[in-house]
Amino acid sequence: MIIINGKEIAANIRRALKKELLALKDKSIIPGIAVILVGENPASQIYVRNKNKACGEIGIASFEHKLSETTSQDELLSLIKKLNADNKVHGILVQLPLPSHIDEQTIINAISPSKDVDGFHPENIGRLLLGLKAFRPCTPLGIMELLSRINYDIKGKHAVVLGRSNIVGKPVALLLLEQHATVTICHSKTENLPEVVKSADILVAAIGKPNFVKGSWIKKGAVIIDVGINRLDDGKIVGDVDFDEAKKSAYAITPVPGGVGPMTIAMLLKNTVDAAMKLSSYGMR
Ligand code: NDP
Repeated sequence: MIIINGKEIAANIRRALKKELLALKDKSIIPGIAVILVGENPASQIYVRNKNKACGEIGIASFEHKLSETTSQDELLSLIKKLNADNKVHGILVQLPLPSHIDEQTIINAISPSKDVDGFHPENIGRLLLGLKAFRPCTPLGIMELLSRINYDIKGKHAVVLGRSNIVGKPVALLLLEQHATVTICHSKTENLPEVVKSADILVAAIGKPNFVKGSWIKKGAVIIDVGINRLDDGKIVGDVDFDEAKKSAYAITPVPGGVGPMTIAMLLKNTVDAAMKLSSYGMR
């Protein structure tokens, strides 16, 4: 049984990116990302701090824009317009969620698709659907990287995705389909969920409910990717899958923490380096 060490894989990716950045520096290209945080959401503050730190460690310039909770939608839109035109900025990230008086989709739509390193812009999502090159959302991309790093042959396998959010469930289902999996997407209205899960060769759980998937639901030899991040009353962080029980049947499983989470940031860094290469006309990988 393999415990997929996302922390170590992400560290290897960051090391490789650091080397690429040195090569880019020789060509006078320093990838830059603008990170926008509106308001004081404590979880968002931690995410933004971690993203800035990860950028700094490998030599990506990060430009932090901390805006007050009362920032208007128009003010935010005009900042994005400025950043779209700034050639030191290759990637723009708006930390979600935004305060309720700001419409998230309007903001995402305003980001130039070529700087949309989160891969949330409708153009990039549409290109994903069509199988065209584009920025892929970071968590789904990180999941595919994990599957590739354990050399798991996805072709023809039954992949079950729990959750249909725009940032995880739907895009990861499309990426699995692109790799020739037979994909089932489940959600809160799905009937007979344990039976559907039991038929999964690959299970991606992204629902946000602690230890929701029971060990008895897991097919023998399945690969389990647990995206969930849930904090219990005692402060412990657990995933959506009952790890201790599920690992008894699984061929491979990601832990929480230390599985998918570190990959999300690593993929954000990769997308930012790709954006810099593309915008500096070195072509996108
Ligand atoms: P959302 O809340 O946007 O979506 C949750 C999905 O789960 C919905 O599609 C919902 O169905 C489905 N769902 C909820 N309850 C059930 C149920 N009982 N049975 C079946 N499906 C159910 O969540 P996100 O996709 O944003 O995030 C999911 C989890 O992943 C969270 O714990 C989040 O913190 C974590 N996460 C982790 C990341 C990482 O880097 N590791 C990155 C992003 C998220 P319906 O559509 O019918 O309501």
